[in-house]
Amino acid sequence: MWQSAATGEMILDNGETFDVVVVGSGAAGAMAALRAADQGLSVLIAEKAHKFGGTSATSGGVMWIPNHQLGGDTGDSREQTLEYLASVTSGPVNPEKLHAYVDTAPEMARYLKGIGVDLTPAAWPDYFPDRPGARADRSVICPTFDGRQLGDDRYFLMREQFNRFKLFNRYAMDLTETFALMMQQKGWRLTVAKMIARYWRDRSTRNVSHRDRRFTQGAALMGAVYKQVFDRGVELRLETKLEDLAVDGAGRVTGIEVSNFGRKYTIGARHGVVLAAGGFEWNQELRDRFYPVPGLTRHSSTPEDANRGEGLIAAEKLGADTEHTGEGWWIPTMTLPMAKASNFHEIHQAAFDVGRPWSVCVNRNGVRFVDEATGYDSFGQAMVDDHLKTGANMPCWLIFDAKFRHKFSAGGFMPAVHTPDDKIPSDWWDHYVFRAGTIDELARKIRLPVAAVTETVRKMNEYAKTGVDPEFGRGGNIYDQFFGDPTVTPNPNLGPIDTAPFYAVPINNGDLGTKGGIRTDARARVIDRGGNPIPGLYAAGNNAGNPFGGCYPGAGATIGPAMTFGFIAANDIVERSGNQRPSG
Ligand SMILES: Cc1cc2nc3c(=O)[nH]c(=O)nc-3n(C[C@H](O)[C@H](O)[C@H](O)COP(=O)(O)OP(=O)(O)OC[C@H]3O[C@@H](n4cnc5c(N)ncnc54)[C@H](O)[C@@H]3O)c2cc1C
Repeated sequence: MWQSAATGEMILDNGETFDVVVVGSGAAGAMAALRAADQGLSVLIAEKAHKFGGTSATSGGVMWIPNHQLGGDTGDSREQTLEYLASVTSGPVNPEKLHAYVDTAPEMARYLKGIGVDLTPAAWPDYFPDRPGARADRSVICPTFDGRQLGDDRYFLMREQFNRFKLFNRYAMDLTETFALMMQQKGWRLTVAKMIARYWRDRSTRNVSHRDRRFTQGAALMGAVYKQVFDRGVELRLETKLEDLAVDGAGRVTGIEVSNFGRKYTIGARHGVVLAAGGFEWNQELRDRFYPVPGLTRHSSTPEDANRGEGLIAAEKLGADTEHTGEGWWIPTMTLPMAKASNFHEIHQAAFDVGRPWSVCVNRNGVRFVDEATGYDSFGQAMVDDHLKTGANMPCWLIFDAKFRHKFSAGGFMPAVHTPDDKIPSDWWDHYVFRAGTIDELARKIRLPVAAVTETVRKMNEYAKTGVDPEFGRGGNIYDQFFGDPTVTPNPNLGPIDTAPFYAVPINNGDLGTKGGIRTDARARVIDRGGNPIPGLYAAGNNAGNPFGGCYPGAGATIGPAMTFGFIAANDIVERSGNQRPSG
């Protein structure tokens, strides 16, 4: 037994020691564990939840890996990447850390591919496509993974992907299928039929579970990585929550203090502890402390209550500094008022809804504030900036007409062609989704200034005719157009809002996690407030500050760095341990 320095409580010394202890089982933690185990170190992952995989398993699973050169020379280069990043990153960015990312991300991706994780580039424009050095081939995905390869117990224990990435909350969709359905591309009905047939033909799985064995998106990536993690003998302990860090007299981190089914005990770490316990998006106190604008935990689209900043709090107690904590990885969200559901079921990511033709977003003054079709993080940042200026954002409103409603999803319900208005729960009307015969009436219902809303809609209808949005340039670049409607001309993101009935839903500034956290250096070491590394302590993923400062350069820009700095942390630990052994 020993006495916790933080609480004075008596803690059981479990007598267990691993070479490396990783806290959190998301992308950053899995990668750190995999790489360290591959180099011959013994590794334990301590995971607070009853399922593993973190937000990462629920995600789209896209990684932004510039200059990846997967499948041959893509024409991208280190120089072109740095040129792009120089033009888009914001805030005080550590150049060494940024360079470490650019140099190591391709190595990390090739390493994964080399050990059997199926990675492939996905066509996706960088989020600032007009900036120098931008490309449309830097995003990388793992298309699918047969979840049952994890073994039946682990197949059930990995977090399922985000509800809205499954058709009818059941049939797993890969990215191609998601886009085909979202845009109702030619042949989408056949795509649906194939997905359903494939699911029901899998009799052996249907006998044991409703869960689709075909893992897609984040579940595919994490499933494929965890296959490698388990093959290397890493121990994963669920329901094991980091409470504090254990330190020796010289200030070196020597392990973690956890709670596990009510027991508190310590687990020793011979060579390093990697904090990969996600961000602080579910901690209202930390949000209020760090963010410049109000925002609620339940607007986050990450799994409810998992990431509460405990890694950050424990590191701060040891004197760790923080960086980039003023922002989340923003994404506009809507919260559906479901009768019986967790936040994870209720939340709808509106990232692509808001840039579709026949719609407009306004603040509570009835005025536009952004190119609505821009990247989701930039949209959120614009909400924050506008709120700081006007006090009339967060939420803002998405207004659309019957043409939009017929064709696109909005507010978490499917297009009217699948889900007509009479199938929407009656208690949602005029509480969550608003409908009226005229724009005036709609503005009155949602209590926005009628004249301002009418004028905004009039202007948008003019822009739809000319195809040019002189205010914000909506539809003026390839990123916007990628998620527009190619059948709408002259601008795929602009269509007149002129067909009754008219609709409105409130849009919150949600998130995919937090952008900032513990300050780390180019080797993923935790840096204290005096600028020195805290010996034995590393952080990666959303538990640490990201390498780009305030910006989201392209699709996969959170998981790319999470995996890369998990990889870097493991490399540094292995190097310092002097204990490198060939992979077993
Ligand atoms: C629906 C959705 C789609 C997304 N799509 C993408 C995408 O395609 N590409 C992209 O780059 N980003 C995407 N994101 C964001 C991305 O998923 C996260 O930023 C990323 O997964 C964070 O990885 P992580 O390893 O830092 O944290 P996580 O994956 O959240 O893992 C952290 C883990 O730590 C555990 N933990 C927390 N506290 C403790 C504690 N005290 N003790 C022990 N364990 C603890 C948590 O339970 C969790 O399992 C998406 C997010 C969502 C919600």
